[in-house]
Amino acid sequence: MSTYLLKLGELTLKGENRKGFEQILKRNLLSMLQGTGAKLELITGRFLVRCPEAAQEQVEAALAHLFGIAGWAKTRTAEKTVEGVLRACVSEAQELFDQGVRRFKIEARRTDKSFPLDSYGLRCEGGAAVLQGVPGLQVDVHAPDAVIAIEIREKAYIYGTARKGLRGLPVGTAGRGLLLLSGGIDSPVAGYMMASRGMHLDAVYFHAYPYTSEGARQKVRDLAALVGRYARGIRLYTVSFTPVQLRIQAQAPEPWRTVLLRMAMMEGADKLAQYRGDRCLITGESLSQVASQTIENISCTESLVSLPVLRPLIGMDKEQIIRLAERIGTYATSILPYQDCCVLFSPPHPVLRGDPTEARQRYEQLELSTWIDAALRERDMEKCGFPVQPRI
Ligand code: ATP
Ligand code: MG
Repeated sequence: MSTYLLKLGELTLKGENRKGFEQILKRNLLSMLQGTGAKLELITGRFLVRCPEAAQEQVEAALAHLFGIAGWAKTRTAEKTVEGVLRACVSEAQELFDQGVRRFKIEARRTDKSFPLDSYGLRCEGGAAVLQGVPGLQVDVHAPDAVIAIEIREKAYIYGTARKGLRGLPVGTAGRGLLLLSGGIDSPVAGYMMASRGMHLDAVYFHAYPYTSEGARQKVRDLAALVGRYARGIRLYTVSFTPVQLRIQAQAPEPWRTVLLRMAMMEGADKLAQYRGDRCLITGESLSQVASQTIENISCTESLVSLPVLRPLIGMDKEQIIRLAERIGTYATSILPYQDCCVLFSPPHPVLRGDPTEARQRYEQLELSTWIDAALRERDMEKCGFPVQPRI
């Protein structure tokens, strides 16, 4: 069996709500661990996961997708005696040495005050035992290659390679929002960021078949599944906007098409969100990144919407967004060469600073609502990135 010690994140700050947050975190983790044979135990300030060795990879993948933990480590469990702890320190140090570590330091924490050594004593004795037991290792408190951690709780835990958790808040603690998901780089990152604040996600994709391909749709599905792994699954709604787009194309002056299409998407998303009980819309917009994202045009697209529109990337530049997309694993899929509808329909000289009143008038002249309603009635729903249910 392998044991993992998880340090809880920001939820430790939540006072009264803490128990509820812990329960949601526990439920999220359990659903991600389904089928691995792992067991979960809650001890003060920590979670413990025990799993068969063969399930390590799956468990580590789950922990790497879990919001609400500050860090985690595969740990040794030692007998709660001084000799037991020191022996485990030496074994851990030997393993680190074999992996190339030469400089180490010891950190210790004693929650069980009945243990005979306090944290200072543990550091001194632990360090001495390691120096004696593993020749070739040196203490370096300023720039160690590895830190050996000792935690004395209901049992003694010793670990040498701690990993950073995703932090944030457990998904399910902040209501649910509707993500406008395109096949681009930005919107999957926007979804990830809201999930990191505890928000559950629905997603909507407006496609324009046959002007956009089945490949483009598959890409959105794949992105929803990738973000869904962090977000405990996403219901992806696909809405066919071909008639809406054709009407805009036939009736609106070319420079206005992008803004008007955005307004139609916002109207559609707002209606879908009301139907689903989502509390907000989420987009991947970043200020002035493209013509449709000037503050004036954002005012135009927002003017029809009743729910709050969250734009977690609004102040980020493209480089930052790309780095985050790479880190969360969506970038490679986002850059696959399937165009989404907006690219195909975008005019060469779009309106840069639309006046919201004029935009509203133009939009109303198009009488798109019945088309949007019809498109929404025909929506398709798929579950993406939900935890796999075990076969019974
Ligand atoms: P992204 O990389 O997310 O596609 P982008 O830089 O291409 O963003 P736009 O095309 O202007 O920017 O889109 C702005 C936002 O509008 C997107 O981040 C997304 O939230 C939403 N959006 C755009 N196209 C669609 C679509 N076909 N279906 C659903 N939402 C869309
Ligand atoms: Mg796009």
